[in-house]
Amino acid sequence: MRFFSFFDRSTRAFQFSKLTLLFAVNTGGLVAYSESKLYSDTSVDLSQVEPKKKRVVVLGTGWAGTTFLKNLDSSLYDIQVVSPLNYFAFTPLLPSVTCGTVEARSIVEPIRNIIKKKNGEIQFWEAECVKIDAANKRVHCRSNDRIIVEGKEEFLLDYDYLVIAIGALASTLNIPGVKEHCHFLKDIEDAQKIRRSVIDCFERASLPNLSEEERKTALHFIIVGGGPTGVEFAAELHDFVCEDLVKMYPTVQNLVKITVIQSGDHILNTYDERISLFAERKFQRDGIEVQTGQRVISVSDKAITTRAKVNGQIYSMPYGMIVWSTGIRIRPVLMDFMQDIGQKHKRALTTDEWLRVKGCDGIYALGDCATIHQRKIMEDISAIFNVADKDKSGTLTVKEFQGVIDDILVRYPQVEHYLKRKHMRNVLDLLNDSKGNESKESIEVDIEGFRSALSHVDSKMKNLPPTAQVAAQQGAYLARCFNHMKDSEDNAEGPLRFRESGRHQFQPFRYKHFWKFVPLGGEQAALELPGDRISIGHSTQWLWYSVYASKQVSWRTRSLVVSDWTRRFIFGRDSSRI
Ligand code: FAD
Ligand code: MG
Repeated sequence: MRFFSFFDRSTRAFQFSKLTLLFAVNTGGLVAYSESKLYSDTSVDLSQVEPKKKRVVVLGTGWAGTTFLKNLDSSLYDIQVVSPLNYFAFTPLLPSVTCGTVEARSIVEPIRNIIKKKNGEIQFWEAECVKIDAANKRVHCRSNDRIIVEGKEEFLLDYDYLVIAIGALASTLNIPGVKEHCHFLKDIEDAQKIRRSVIDCFERASLPNLSEEERKTALHFIIVGGGPTGVEFAAELHDFVCEDLVKMYPTVQNLVKITVIQSGDHILNTYDERISLFAERKFQRDGIEVQTGQRVISVSDKAITTRAKVNGQIYSMPYGMIVWSTGIRIRPVLMDFMQDIGQKHKRALTTDEWLRVKGCDGIYALGDCATIHQRKIMEDISAIFNVADKDKSGTLTVKEFQGVIDDILVRYPQVEHYLKRKHMRNVLDLLNDSKGNESKESIEVDIEGFRSALSHVDSKMKNLPPTAQVAAQQGAYLARCFNHMKDSEDNAEGPLRFRESGRHQFQPFRYKHFWKFVPLGGEQAALELPGDRISIGHSTQWLWYSVYASKQVSWRTRSLVVSDWTRRFIFGRDSSRI
């Protein structure tokens, strides 16, 4: 029986290999034949030959890159993905990883798991893009140091479309000593290092032959930057200390100090004022010291030095550990690229409203590495007037203006924001406003009147914040454009081109702001919603739990995160240094 089955299998294997060989020979022949036919026989009907798929290279597997891949119809393109990390990390839960509230592996999803669910072929290379050669439409990549094969570390990828989504680095503000002595909180490895370092500080402070002063220094945790990441980490650390570490290190519990240093006048200054004040008061009650109006001027291995903004006084504080969280800066590979394409003095890669990198062909950039240059309406005011003035009378009637209003609102979203700010219900109110109390129908403006009616609209344009919400919406938007790239070539759906003729191919990217959470510790969180609405307290924390559980990229990570939260409620956090 065994012999038979073995024989059976080996015969089948033999037959299979014969078949494969035949197939390979045949298809090879077929390919060779069809190619030679294509080039030698000019009578071949080229319309019958299936066009080669366009090559898309995606750089980065963070929020922007992964959302793009998840939403892209991968059967339409030949797709290659390059990233030095072979996973997607759910960054909003990184502060929870620093103290073991959730485990690192619970918030990451292997990128190969995500792409294997797609119908087309997507190739992934664990490597870093080291140079973008826009002139030759190729990127130079270098495989990850850990997996390098000598002599084969560098490779080139040609593209038709390049999607740059490589995020950013933590900013050090070029302050001496920051890079060497501070922790950053940007990715999973940073969070794991912080977790180990916190435990090290407690173990150091518990050693037998230290003075009280030395113990206090070891347990002085300083957070620089009072933005949402710094505040959330401070709150997480405070909970970890009060709920878990005090039980394990009873001798040193009274020596712990947490300080938040902020250069502005308030922490969370990009949030609603009520949230910012609530956070400050809560931190005061919890014993977290908030030092506002202080600029860090240097960091040494023992102390951090700050200067007060009001009186220039210099202070020096010894520390056990510093977490630095003062925003982001562009990656060096993009600085070189920006130099090549004439964007030298920009702070991030600048794109137009369709996420196309300015000055390049077929290159898109999204997420933290890019910023959208929103065109001002004043730059195009004469062109808009000319398009709107259908009868070429040199004046615009209300009817003529109405003909272009929708396109203006789509092309220049600042108009809508301005109307909201001014509590105006209709764009026509702008004309009204500039002409006193005339009745709407009779309004007729010349170019100067039109210019002055819209002159304040561009006044408060803001760049989009570097958040996962923005990056994910951009990824989904760009995938939709790619999915319809072919259909819409003659079927443009975008707004009127005021400076040229016709319409734009697609609607420009439009960010929809849904919410802004910040957990404040002690099972309380704050939430900012559009329209000046806020919510603070325990119920908001429960909302935070449900939103962040629902936002996980897979059921696997969702269940891991929820079980980590449950484990923490029952058994507390783990303080082992592994
Ligand atoms: P990233 O997510 O940073 O991804 C960049 C990708 O590029 C990575 O895969 C990286 O490996 C890869 N890469 C890097 N260099 C190269 C290279 N040379 N070649 C190829 N690939 C490369 N936002 C919110 O909206 N809500 C929150 O609650 C929130 N909390 C946060 C908490 C923390 C601690 C942090 C650090 C950020 C938080 N953010 C939050 C911001 C959010 O994480 C970022 O805005 C978001 O990650 C940006 O997405 P991205 O795709 O542009 O970049
Ligand atoms: Mg007219």
